[in-house]
Amino acid sequence: MQKNNKHLGTICVQEGWKPKKGESRVLPIFQSTTFKYDNTQQMADLFDLKASGYFYTRLQNPTNDAVAAKITALEGGAAGMLTSSGQAANFYAVFNICEAGDHFISASTIYGGTFNLFGVSMKKLGIDVTFVDPDAPEEEIEKAFKPNTKCVFGETIANPVLSVLDIEKFARLAHRHGVPLIVDNTFPTPINCRPFEWGCDIVTHSTTKYMDGHATQVGGAIVDSGNFDWDAHADKFPGLTEPDPSYHGLAYSKAFGKGAYITKATAQLMRDFGSIPSPHNAFLLNLGLETLHVRMPRHCSNALAVAQYLSENPEVAWVNFPGLKSDKYYELAQKQFDGGQSCGVVTFGIKGGRERSIKFMDSLKLTAIVTHVADARTCVLHPASHTHRQLSDEELIAAGVRPDLIRYSVGIEDVEDVIEDLETGFKSL
Ligand SMILES: *Cc1c(COP(=O)(O)O)cnc(C)c1O
Repeated sequence: MQKNNKHLGTICVQEGWKPKKGESRVLPIFQSTTFKYDNTQQMADLFDLKASGYFYTRLQNPTNDAVAAKITALEGGAAGMLTSSGQAANFYAVFNICEAGDHFISASTIYGGTFNLFGVSMKKLGIDVTFVDPDAPEEEIEKAFKPNTKCVFGETIANPVLSVLDIEKFARLAHRHGVPLIVDNTFPTPINCRPFEWGCDIVTHSTTKYMDGHATQVGGAIVDSGNFDWDAHADKFPGLTEPDPSYHGLAYSKAFGKGAYITKATAQLMRDFGSIPSPHNAFLLNLGLETLHVRMPRHCSNALAVAQYLSENPEVAWVNFPGLKSDKYYELAQKQFDGGQSCGVVTFGIKGGRERSIKFMDSLKLTAIVTHVADARTCVLHPASHTHRQLSDEELIAAGVRPDLIRYSVGIEDVEDVIEDLETGFKSL
């Protein structure tokens, strides 16, 4: 699948920055807003998108581009870009093809921030979303499509409910209606799953999570497979197939082929909205990516041990982890994920509900209570008390987040110590 035929671990370590003779071995931080040219024509060609090159970091920066190239190679895509956050990545990914009056479909089990972005903020821009139960039969989801539907969205593994998206099913539905499938692949990372291999068209990431892995930067990425044929559905995607008046009538699909979608997102959305990462953050992200293939298997095996321990504990009411044989998504995870490996996050509930969950969490020592997830250090969150605090118990259940749900993000420590910490928590009850 990889365009350079290298294995994933080699891409993690080597792809992106390719130094020439005498250049820095390590990816340099191009901490510069601007880039110098010899004459006015050279820069004019850049502004006309006639030549490629750097002129202003809001549009492109060499450090950021090297890291985007690495993530693009990991996903097996044609083109990619970094954004300042995962939120910006998901917003741009949809807004690049939807405008006021358009509609799109999203799985209902998605990250809370994305749920608000789609259901509240994008609605204010005149873009309408229909949330569907991703586990519903195809005929049921089919009913959500409208003539103005422009894309379908889902998360490979949903944060925090840990449902697994049947990417082939969603790709089939999207393509039957002539629209692309966008998948947020944050939790499995390309080490465990490459959604393009299952028919997805565009992938997004919150690089804040495993890709960085050390909780040092907030960032996002968008990767395009280059497989969706915009011109075959030109009536739906005039923004990609018809002349752009802000670039002297250039049409992206004709001028850039497989790079059309990412070029448009850079040339229009970055130009106008400007959610770029700082080159320094891209540098930190790159350090994380260099060990992603080493860290992910450890996160996954530690999480499986924790999930097994929890499922045998009499104080535990329920456990969700796609790697557990008893899990609703076990078969799908075996099929879609390399070696059935999913992620390092486990969710569970403690018998007796909310109050006992809080008591349990407050007595943990090694495990830190933080908003973050997917970090090298084990951490925990109680969504009902934190990220979803405003919701009543009824609303929580409607959002798929049970009031007793504990999101436990297993790090890369020695798992014996993590389990000992959990034991301390249970003893306190
Ligand atoms: C955290 C997260 C986001 C949002 O990313 P930020 O980097 O926090 O803006 C989007 N999708 C998923 C699945 C996430 O876990």
